[in-house]
Amino acid sequence: MSNPPYDLALEEAWEQDLKRRYPETDYDPNGKAKEAFRNYDEPGRDTVREFYRINHEHQTYAFVLGKKAEFRPGAHGRRSIWESMEFLNTLVDDSDPDTEMSQIQHLLQTAEGIRKDGHPDWFILTGLIHDLGKVLCLHGEPQWAVVGDTFPVGCAFSDKVVYPEYFAANPDIHCPEYSTEYGVYGPGCGLDQVHLSWGHDEYLFQVVKDFLPEEALYMIRYHSFYAAHRERAYDHLMNDHDRAQFHWVRAFNPYDLYTKSDAPPNVEALRPYYEELIGRYFPAELDW
Ligand code: FE
Ligand code: FE
Repeated sequence: MSNPPYDLALEEAWEQDLKRRYPETDYDPNGKAKEAFRNYDEPGRDTVREFYRINHEHQTYAFVLGKKAEFRPGAHGRRSIWESMEFLNTLVDDSDPDTEMSQIQHLLQTAEGIRKDGHPDWFILTGLIHDLGKVLCLHGEPQWAVVGDTFPVGCAFSDKVVYPEYFAANPDIHCPEYSTEYGVYGPGCGLDQVHLSWGHDEYLFQVVKDFLPEEALYMIRYHSFYAAHRERAYDHLMNDHDRAQFHWVRAFNPYDLYTKSDAPPNVEALRPYYEELIGRYFPAELDW
């Protein structure tokens, strides 16, 4: 069965929905998001809702383990970081003309925002690459298995996850082993032991995990885990090391959400700086 083409309008609607749930004015890296899930109508809301309905139904423990095996690094070729950015950018080809921001532009705007604030080079590099796992879409994966909020599988779903009512259709809720608070995990076991719903965060983490500082890897692996970094659900699965490292996940989040502007970055002018930065950390090619 083939999947429908990547839907950029849906991606745009999903990002608008994130900003609705987590407005910039509410950002408090040390506290809980205030007034999250405010209820006002917004175009695209129904497509986002439908997206999460399918996502929550199909992201089961078995599905996640299967995707991790299918997308182990090296199973989908070797490419440089820049080649992957260009590959990801082909997602815009069927674009709706209203969706002007290409994938490379989002990556560069995120990185440039981090760079302007004087953060270390690995933080800037993380901004540049953080969404490269979305190349999953170009390997035929459906959008609900690539983007969207992530959440643990193999244990009870938190009602702090967006649209928790749709977990009612997830078959794992009928499996006693997966439906207790800790499920297959133990108290404070650490997130490294926990399987999150499958998507671009975990895939990219697996590809780059040998090359970046741990802080960067936390940002990449957990940037869509809003239930943890913005809602503070799932603290019972985290250990003290996770809690300390989540400082960096929270530091990264505003650059991801709030650096979009209408002035597109000049890709060719910025490329030499970023190619040099990539070369400081990565080999010429990576296993994808
Ligand atoms: Fe992302
Ligand atoms: Fe992003």
